Amino acid sequence: MSALSARPSQDAAVTPFRHTSSVAPRAATEDTVAPPDSSILFGEVLRGVTIVRDWPQRIAVLVGDRTHASAIASLQHLGFAPIFAPPRHASEIIREVSPFSFLLLSADVLADDDAIDRARAWHRCAPAARMSLLCTAEELSADVLVRAIRAGVTDVLDPQDVHGFEATLRTSVAQAGATRERVLAIGAHPDDVEIGCGGTLLDHRRRGDRVTILTLSRGAVGGDREARLLEADTTAEAIGAQLLMADLADTEIDDGIDTIRLIESVVRAVDPSVVYVHSANDNHQDHRAVHTAARSATRGVRRVFTYQSPSATNSFLPTQFVSVDEVIERKVEVLQMFDSQGGRSYLEPELVKAQARYWARHLTASARYAEPFEVIRSVGELRHAATAPDLSLAMPSPRPVRSPAMVSVNP
Ligand SMILES: [Zn+2]
Repeated sequence: MSALSARPSQDAAVTPFRHTSSVAPRAATEDTVAPPDSSILFGEVLRGVTIVRDWPQRIAVLVGDRTHASAIASLQHLGFAPIFAPPRHASEIIREVSPFSFLLLSADVLADDDAIDRARAWHRCAPAARMSLLCTAEELSADVLVRAIRAGVTDVLDPQDVHGFEATLRTSVAQAGATRERVLAIGAHPDDVEIGCGGTLLDHRRRGDRVTILTLSRGAVGGDREARLLEADTTAEAIGAQLLMADLADTEIDDGIDTIRLIESVVRAVDPSVVYVHSANDNHQDHRAVHTAARSATRGVRRVFTYQSPSATNSFLPTQFVSVDEVIERKVEVLQMFDSQGGRSYLEPELVKAQARYWARHLTASARYAEPFEVIRSVGELRHAATAPDLSLAMPSPRPVRSPAMVSVNP
């Protein structure tokens, strides 16, 4: 079994690289400990671009004291990683494995009214996930059903009805795929994307979107190549992103046709609905070159935004802001993973949070942290957030999962 089939991606049916790999992937799973050398690279998929890390496997969390073996078998059959969470440890487990695609609650979880708030809190960790009640007809009582509806559960699944259970999950996957954003974040060096829009990428993942990071050089001038490669892989895993890396010469990236074609090939494969890239208002020549090349290569993408790097000039003039309140602490943790860049002030938690705190002044008074973006192009609906699966049969959720997270202001 190949590594890729052993670790199904979020979108196996539409994965653009699935059948184009020219290099046999190495065996790798979620728990593989990658050695600190180039063997971490497991699939060159386009000329000059390598998949370092694929999208993470989709997760379904089952909360309850009953294991529901048939449901777990069905989830595995559909390519999900089932995570079993006993109720007393559910909060910490759910925080650890988020985001997830499904939250399945056993009837025993809803034994009292206090469970309603607990279930709502679990769901907020992955607001685009479908939350279902998993119980047999014999287990279903009126009290449990009412609590489930008040908690935001959208349907009742009978684990003994394997056909119905799997059909519902397939439908939900198709609905989620239709509304999910396809995000492409482009950076010149390892750590550029994470610094410039790491919070926004984490928020995309929290909402169930699919995130790809394209890094165009290995950053040899700024540190050891292999160490930086390993850090890029580790941080992509922490974000839950697919990581693609090219190997252009650090500090000598050209904005000409070769770089444009390289980015174009990734754009064709990923088909992004939104792109984040360096600003032209930046003192680093590589950042400006990547901006210029990407601007040509993404000319057909409906929404293209530029992020702020530590080397951005005072001419960086953002007019779009994404709230990152929910993920700022995680962004700080991710940036701490860049050990090879230790001592750089722009990675210090205090500065990262202070900068995000400053930009939040453009959002609502209650907003704490934001990331700023300049707009290259924004056509159609400004929808940073993914919509949830069809909730038309459900009671309204107490907190809408669809929100205008991206806010525009005049310069
Ligand atoms: Zn850089």
